[in-house]
Amino acid sequence: MHTFEFVRPRDSASAVASAAQGKTAQQGADVRFIAGGTTLLDLMKLNVETPSRLLDINRLPLGKIEATPDGGLAIGATVRNSDLAHHPTVQRDYPVLSQALLSGASAQLRNMATTAGNLLQRTRCMYFRDTAMPCNKRQPGSGCPAITGFNRSLAILGTSEQCIATNPSDMCVAMAALEATIHVQGPTGSRAIPFGEFHLLPGETPQRETVLEPGDLITHVTLPPPIAGSKQVYLKLRDRASYEFALASAAVVLTIAGGNVTRARIALGGVGTKPWRSPEAEAALTGQPANEASFRKAAEAALRSARPQSQNAFKIELAKRCLAHALQTAAMS
Ligand SMILES: Cc1cc2nc3c(=O)[nH]c(=O)nc-3n(C[C@H](O)[C@H](O)[C@H](O)COP(=O)(O)OP(=O)(O)OC[C@H]3O[C@@H](n4cnc5c(N)ncnc54)[C@H](O)[C@@H]3O)c2cc1C
Ligand code: SF4
Repeated sequence: MHTFEFVRPRDSASAVASAAQGKTAQQGADVRFIAGGTTLLDLMKLNVETPSRLLDINRLPLGKIEATPDGGLAIGATVRNSDLAHHPTVQRDYPVLSQALLSGASAQLRNMATTAGNLLQRTRCMYFRDTAMPCNKRQPGSGCPAITGFNRSLAILGTSEQCIATNPSDMCVAMAALEATIHVQGPTGSRAIPFGEFHLLPGETPQRETVLEPGDLITHVTLPPPIAGSKQVYLKLRDRASYEFALASAAVVLTIAGGNVTRARIALGGVGTKPWRSPEAEAALTGQPANEASFRKAAEAALRSARPQSQNAFKIELAKRCLAHALQTAAMS
């Protein structure tokens, strides 16, 4: 591993000021915040990330889970995934988030992994993690060997000619369906970013994954007040039952009255280049009877724009079944 300076900023303002000296907050950043380290240290060992300065944010006061004045929930950036998953308010009001978190990684990793770190975890595309190979995300303009190579686990939604990498997070899929907001403290002040605007599609610039700029510190994430009587499910399909990333997953938050769906929030994981909210599926389901036929139609709508690669066409039907089954499970709960 290359050498780097390790710094413990005394407060958020000095952390932001120090990080603002970096050239970018995207791939190749020379200054990085470090939280649990479960993504960053792995990538540093592989020389995929080579920051010259690490800013340890674990002692900053960003570790609380608190009610917000509007009845929602504020989740600090350094709240560990395990603490969030087991928090009584999350289990009662946002069970889809608890289920998503508990489906990810292992108990040991969840004890280290943080909310902000999970938002910024990187793709598991094997070429991205291998510096002997070209990769547009790691080294812009070098090419995308995944398009003609191993792409079984990669994306079918939101891809571009430059990159087809999947966003691997489970937590983010639930947060997309819950319409979370990400709060950032930057060199010019604080701002709130709606979840759907935080991650970027690869397009022509796959090295740019989020809207973050140098110095931007995620301070917390807020969830809106819970929807009374909503039925929530996270379903994750993968090659083995634990310690594995999703091939396809679905987060659903449904409200049903008189046998009809009155409100639907739907997001998919394992299939998109970013956590994939599906307004198409939500529109197809709203006002429809809560039955198998409607759920299948919503799943068809969610995958209509899917573009498979040579090895992952199976994901289209897998994702449809995953979503339809998640909706059915939620409706029966
Ligand atoms: C073997 C393995 C299996 C896994 N399986 C799964 C899985 O099934 N599902 C899943 O969802 N995840 C999985 N993960 C990923 C895991 O959830 C992430 O590694 C973890 O959430 C990252 O959190 P962290 O605090 O360790 O991040 P770190 O490694 O500390 O940081 C990650 C990135 O976030 C940045 N960062 C951290 N905090 C902030 C902040 N406050 N503001 C701005 N930038 C910040 C860092 O600079 C870095 O770029 C797995 C990981 C491993 C190693
Ligand atoms: S899919 Fe993206 S991350 Fe993977 S090799 Fe292609 S450019 Fe790199």
